[in-house]
Amino acid sequence: MPPPDDAYSSAVAGSEASVPRAPVREFTGADPRDVLHEVFGYEEFRGDQAAIVAQVIAGGDAVVLMPTGGGKSVTYQVPALVRPGTGLVISPLIALMHDQVDALIANGVRAAYLNSTQAPAERSRVERAFLAGELDLLYVAPERLSAASTTALLQRGKLSVIAIDEAHCVSQWGHDFRPDYLNLGDLDERFPGVPRMALTATATRETHRELTERLRLPKAEHFVASFDRPNIQYRIEAKVDPRRQLAAFIRSQPAGTAGIVYALSRKSVEATAELLRSQGIDALPYHAGLPSEVRSANQSRFLRDDGVVMVATIAFGMGIDKPDVRFVAHIDLPKSVEGYYQETGRAGRDGEPALAWMVYGLGDVVQQRRMIDQSPGDRSYKMRLGQHLDAMLGLCETVSCRRQNLLDYFGQPSDPCGNCDTCLEPPDTFDGLVPAQKLLSTIVRLQRERGQAYGAGQLIDILRGASTERVRQLGHDSLATFGIGADLSDQDWRSVIRQLLARGILVARGDYGTLALAEPAGAVLQGATPVPLRRDVIGRAGGAPRVRKVSASDALDASDRGLFEALREWRAGVAKQLGVPAYIVFGDATL
Ligand code: ADP
Ligand code: MG
Ligand code: ZN
Repeated sequence: MPPPDDAYSSAVAGSEASVPRAPVREFTGADPRDVLHEVFGYEEFRGDQAAIVAQVIAGGDAVVLMPTGGGKSVTYQVPALVRPGTGLVISPLIALMHDQVDALIANGVRAAYLNSTQAPAERSRVERAFLAGELDLLYVAPERLSAASTTALLQRGKLSVIAIDEAHCVSQWGHDFRPDYLNLGDLDERFPGVPRMALTATATRETHRELTERLRLPKAEHFVASFDRPNIQYRIEAKVDPRRQLAAFIRSQPAGTAGIVYALSRKSVEATAELLRSQGIDALPYHAGLPSEVRSANQSRFLRDDGVVMVATIAFGMGIDKPDVRFVAHIDLPKSVEGYYQETGRAGRDGEPALAWMVYGLGDVVQQRRMIDQSPGDRSYKMRLGQHLDAMLGLCETVSCRRQNLLDYFGQPSDPCGNCDTCLEPPDTFDGLVPAQKLLSTIVRLQRERGQAYGAGQLIDILRGASTERVRQLGHDSLATFGIGADLSDQDWRSVIRQLLARGILVARGDYGTLALAEPAGAVLQGATPVPLRRDVIGRAGGAPRVRKVSASDALDASDRGLFEALREWRAGVAKQLGVPAYIVFGDATL
């Protein structure tokens, strides 16, 4: 597994922990609702919060699965204040730790952290405060807990609760694996009698089972919140020219809209941010290869200013609590549905409408399969990665509700949402049997007659009968299938190939993504299985603008205000209503 593109650890290096100050009052034994009220300023517990808090205050263990923004923090912060002793919070992100501790101190809570960015003097100050029983909450990075000295220190003091935040990091198969989490399995032995909590926003049954097992929480009560984020609209469209599609999508949003764009590579992050800037969009790059001062400057601008678009690798975002992120865009395919859900979950934390927008194409499928093939790891590891990818592809290719597909993946059945792209405009499907057979038989012939395998580009040239130099050189124009697919465009063929790959009818191999038949291809060649394919949507509400011709007569009443201005206004209204750019065409002039 490639190392996580984690940029946080050095982002806040050197920042001083604030000095714990006296609490507003002593809360040991207090009513949890009073604590919620007086310390955090919230009216009521939401959802499962009250039940979780009660379970832990009573000394029980808890596994908490709640989406990002659901309010997991107070479920350990309140018990930490109500129970005697210090609440220990294990959190993988040093930057996040710092923010949380600052926020707690501002609320009069005696909080501190221990991590590798601290000066020794600062660290021993925190240690002394802990031993003197002067801390309500102590945040530590997981690698600290792997050190025997930290355990020894913590055993000399008194712990009220142990909260393992971002507990999915214990899963080796997940999207955020942190090896140090594997050492958290024996906390029950190191700190007997202290209630333990595992909290995460990742909710697949698989991760749930795995973290319960690895963190040894057999007696825990489980609290599983709904993972639906009803204010997020999901849209996935075919990738043609991702950066231009992205720019068009962003321009279709109201000016000054804050968003996050995820790209796979650092290079792509930089190029994308640059392109957006050249189009007048206030975009900033963020990835682990940037100097830490640039990263933290960009992050603070994103958090502080309105309308900044952060273009980032997945290093950006965990623990970023910016409530008014209006969109999360992916220009590369995430490796798993969990990753996609986490990343898109950073949109609309304020509950206002937000968008999860993504483009995805044949290249993504080929690239990700290649990355899996080349990843160091045994067969079963690669199989797991393959299953994650398949689920992600299923979400992309579905012709039914995206939200339903997503929630189903988390084991939460639901009805179609009526708000995602496939609900709003159900994609056309077509019978893909004949094109699939044309493609598969071309691959078979090349293999049998020439002993050769090719990638999508060559195959499409053959099918479309493109007489390129390469085709002639290789003698492909003499193949029996040369030109039998001229009825479909290059883009159509890419879509067919992508969908056959996504369904495991084709496999892509090696650096060049050469295509070969997978087992189910036999039945397709025999015509024994239907091959319904979806017709791609490109540029709906963003992407390459679709021109809609509209009648101008509705606007003529407004002639006294100046026909031209009225028409312009009217056009803007239509565009907004349709969610696509609209133009008024007079003969050959366009307004
Ligand atoms: P999570 O860790 O689950 O992503 P947080 O604990 O960071 O979520 O909380 C998300 C947001 O919800 C925060 O802004 C927090 O202030 C707010 N919040 C949490 N609990 C409540 C509550 N009971 N009432 C009002 N706001 C709350
Ligand atoms: Mg959290
Ligand atoms: Zn839907």
